[in-house]
Amino acid sequence: MTYSDKLKDPRWQKKRLEILERDEWECTNCGDGKSTLHIHHQYYEKATDPWDYPDYCYTTLCEICHKEIADNKSYLDNLIARVGYAEIARIKGYVKALLMEDQLVDAKVGSIEEATGISDALGTNPRLVEIMASANGGVFRQSDYSYIVRNC
Ligand SMILES: [Zn+2]
Repeated sequence: MTYSDKLKDPRWQKKRLEILERDEWECTNCGDGKSTLHIHHQYYEKATDPWDYPDYCYTTLCEICHKEIADNKSYLDNLIARVGYAEIARIKGYVKALLMEDQLVDAKVGSIEEATGISDALGTNPRLVEIMASANGGVFRQSDYSYIVRNC
């Protein structure tokens, strides 16, 4: 079954309607409720059917925002392909810090480069992030994040 066949599957049609309802039939990026709306997968995994992702993976976007996000992701993939392992780890840390801000989650810190990325996002010293994570088995906690945002 091709991907386009899968998008005709009733399980996808049902999931699509659930997400449109959840997002109140508006683009979650610009608020447009009059243009054609798409359900965007924030990420893909091999061997996972389009309807089988957790709900946080989906977001409703208008056609224009969907294209813009897809183009930006593609451009970002091209940029990331041109940097080394340390820079990728640093970007990973930066993105983890952004997720901490949005979703109030803890972040596993796998390397000093990841700690540097987190500290880049927070405007603090990477050593502070590394010390806080080391004190908690390599996990930079939401409470540490909030402490730095408030005090540093
Ligand atoms: Zn939009």
